[in-house]
Amino acid sequence: MKKLSLILAAALMCASLAACSSGTSSSSAAASGSETASASTSSEATTDDTSSGGTLIMGTNAAFPPYEYYENDEIVGIDADIARALGEKLGKDVTIEDMDFNSLITAVQTGKIDMVLAGMTVTPDREENVSFTDSYATGIQSIIVTEDSEIASPDDLGGHKIGVQESTTGHIYCSDDYGEDSVIAYTTGANAVEALKTGKVDAVVIDNEPAKAFVEANEGLKILDTEYAVEDYAIAVAKENTELLDQLNTALAELKEDGTIQSIIDKYITAE
Ligand code: GLN
Repeated sequence: MKKLSLILAAALMCASLAACSSGTSSSSAAASGSETASASTSSEATTDDTSSGGTLIMGTNAAFPPYEYYENDEIVGIDADIARALGEKLGKDVTIEDMDFNSLITAVQTGKIDMVLAGMTVTPDREENVSFTDSYATGIQSIIVTEDSEIASPDDLGGHKIGVQESTTGHIYCSDDYGEDSVIAYTTGANAVEALKTGKVDAVVIDNEPAKAFVEANEGLKILDTEYAVEDYAIAVAKENTELLDQLNTALAELKEDGTIQSIIDKYITAE
């Protein structure tokens, strides 16, 4: 799959450019029908060999600000910047494929993408299907309600309709804690928030940083003070791709050590 799309991408590049040069990740995005957020430093021709040179395909769901979102038709955010920094360390171009959050694990398992950076929480169930790198950020599951809501803590959620983003940890925890009948899953967090605004659900459980962005962008909503769950975000790769896992962990450690990861997070998240 991946090889085929890269060959197609290379063919398109050659067709559309006077010279068949490399690093034109927007062309490969056009070929695969996805958005692309960066071209980086690699000067070698595109290959699917992830051990040196070549392209790393990051999968994400770009409706999760400030980790991934669109700005002028480009996917930006903490995960895009971290992927770019990792790509630079490993000498690889990074292209970004936008898809449903729900599809990311299968996409990495089948080699459609090389890695998932999507504010993805490490969970034991997911660890059965993919490998996770060391964590690069902490996530918190928060509860959004309308300003006049009677819901004041997770204890009050029982008996209410809860909106979540499909297949996320918020979805999983709420189904476990309050029963599947109480939970309505939406494709994106934005859709869940829209449902809250129109009274289809009474609360939305979602990661704290997107929650802040949604509340800022929509009047009449607030985030409850009580955190629903605290979790670790990490990069997912295919189980058999131990080489990439090791490379990413080494690069991640260096980027943590030299302050790059923190400065990327600080660029998007202002301290309270
Ligand atoms: N952190 C949550 C999870 O991994 C949500 C991630 C997301 O929606 N992008 O399930």
